[in-house]
Amino acid sequence: MNDEAGILEPPLVDTGAIGEIAPGVHVIPDGRIPFIPNVGVVEGERAVLVVDTAMGHRNGEAILALAEGIADGRKVILTTTHFHPEHAFGAKPFERDITYVMNAAQAEELAAKGQEYVEMFSTFGPGLAEVLDGVELIPPDLTYEGRLRIDLGGRMVELHEVGPAHTRGDQLIHLPGEGVLFAGDLVENAFFPILPDPDAQGDKWLDLLARMSALGSGIVVGGHGAVGGQELIDAFVEYFEAVRERTAELEAGGADPAGIVETIEGEMFARYDGWGNQEWVKTAVESFATGPST
Ligand SMILES: [Zn+2]
Repeated sequence: MNDEAGILEPPLVDTGAIGEIAPGVHVIPDGRIPFIPNVGVVEGERAVLVVDTAMGHRNGEAILALAEGIADGRKVILTTTHFHPEHAFGAKPFERDITYVMNAAQAEELAAKGQEYVEMFSTFGPGLAEVLDGVELIPPDLTYEGRLRIDLGGRMVELHEVGPAHTRGDQLIHLPGEGVLFAGDLVENAFFPILPDPDAQGDKWLDLLARMSALGSGIVVGGHGAVGGQELIDAFVEYFEAVRERTAELEAGGADPAGIVETIEGEMFARYDGWGNQEWVKTAVESFATGPST
């Protein structure tokens, strides 16, 4: 939020800023604008895969139009990294003629929490209320458990069901041939990781980051922030390990929960100067805390 009144302008993707990060792999960058994600468009010979929709029908329409232009008659497939509003709440316009696929846990989580998140995000300021006004959430056409391989034609894409870590239904989109990984909010460049509800768990997130590292991706697209490489995964590993270690040390020293949060916030703000999402260090500490809460 940028002030007391919250987000004033609707967060709209800038489709004109789309860039190619590998041959036939495009990203519309978030521009570090709150509530806008990185959006992917992956081309194959027969089909084009869109990764994430941004928030609301207006964004979804813009991304669909861009993807259909790139597809130029090829089939369009949609998937979403996780159910959060700026990643999946623009899916409605895709309903016509395209296949929407996600893992089963994400479909269940979207059904369980989606409407509640529409209402919650609509309170974050007039810009978000506007972009979410009249939003309709749609279920996927196809779900899978574990892993799904999609042959786009000359290009294999693997969808991995990997939650819970950031959300219950986290999904990786991996292009093994090109070493490209779309990680959703499991990785963000120069933002603190977000643990928004009890389904977000630091220890499981750390385990997952190790699995993500093992994929050996040269190009990593996080949910927000500039595209990078393995160093983005390494940065989150280092951060979570530091929070886990300091939480354990301060608990062992007898500090009270509020004091532990305050101490670690100070340390992490200094260590990661310039990272956004500072308000989310608290829930990371709480995720690792084992002591009694006040
Ligand atoms: Zn998220």
